Amino acid sequence: MFGLEELSAGTSSAAPARSGPLVGPSFRDSPAARRMLSVREIHAEPAAAASPRGQEILARFPGARVIDVDSHWRVPDLHGNEGNLERWVRVKSEVLVLGEKKALTTRPNGRSADWIAPGAANGCAMACAYCYVPRRKGYANPITVFTNIEQIIAHLGRHVARQGHKPEPNQCDETAWVYDIGENNDCSVDALVCENTADLVRAFSRWPTAKASFATKFVNPDLLLLDPRGRTRVRFSVMPPQDSRLLDIRTSPVEQRIAAAADFLEAGYEVHFNLSPVVVRPGWEEDWGQLLRHMDDVLPTAVKEQAAAEVIMLTHNKDLHELNLAWHPRAEEVLWRPDLQQAKRSENGSLNVRYRNLDKAAAVDSVRRLVASNAPWLRIRYAF
Ligand code: SF4
Repeated sequence: MFGLEELSAGTSSAAPARSGPLVGPSFRDSPAARRMLSVREIHAEPAAAASPRGQEILARFPGARVIDVDSHWRVPDLHGNEGNLERWVRVKSEVLVLGEKKALTTRPNGRSADWIAPGAANGCAMACAYCYVPRRKGYANPITVFTNIEQIIAHLGRHVARQGHKPEPNQCDETAWVYDIGENNDCSVDALVCENTADLVRAFSRWPTAKASFATKFVNPDLLLLDPRGRTRVRFSVMPPQDSRLLDIRTSPVEQRIAAAADFLEAGYEVHFNLSPVVVRPGWEEDWGQLLRHMDDVLPTAVKEQAAAEVIMLTHNKDLHELNLAWHPRAEEVLWRPDLQQAKRSENGSLNVRYRNLDKAAAVDSVRRLVASNAPWLRIRYAF
């Protein structure tokens, strides 16, 4: 099995600390990108493989073995919880699934975004210990790319047009309807595979009443080559590096995400931060204070002037807890806190846990105080 440090450091050269523009030759062909994603096997619905986007992806990974599948939802031996981290990481970095998004629905949200867009992908090549994304397909859930991107964008265009102008400001945005385009995926990593993320950024750049938004834990300098014209909000997720090294497996180090903010702003993105997940453990407030002071020290004024943050307290899950105990029990020492957490049965029958109401409210207050005293420029859009 890989050591955790090795896995966390897997992308440590993904982007340099800010010492000049990140833009250079295509990042996705770099050794750092190949450490994240080196595709050897592609499970593809035949129609997805035959589509123009599918053909582009197959051409991009010419050495990959292509295996026909009936449905991207049912890939025997690929989805599921069996095995250990080494196997999951191999699956996540060496396997892709191509499918077509059948149900094109945009759902209301109202917290982080006004709307949740139909994703252009699901699954992830990273392996955060608290991640909820694999719950439906199983832990070794590699990236599934949806190849019918024109249909997804056409659906979004119609939805945007139907809304017209936003009538009044809300916590999502002052003037634009905000669409989350990365609910079950990380768009920055997806951009290593194909142009879906770029196509979405380009589409939103043409829609003056709307804005795309996605959270990310990966710094992909190729996104700096796009021209988002302020219509895409990148939300870099941050947490104290001590937590991140333990929990954010295969991601770009937190310091890199913060260091990339100025370049993304300069490239035309709006740059926000997700303070998430906030994990309550001994010493957490000191470490969050230090992280916020670091942000205050290194971020330029231009980033601070437009930044806002979401604060998201940890939610966890009993099945994930039991799974993590098998490969990463140290993570569970901080994630699984029955003394602080309460359980709630979700619609699909699994048991989710979150901090008890009073403990959570106290922790949210602490985060607000820490932000006010260490990074007072950071407006909190919402906290839950
Ligand atoms: S980066 Fe996001 S989607 Fe990927 S494993 Fe981590 S939490 Fe899950």
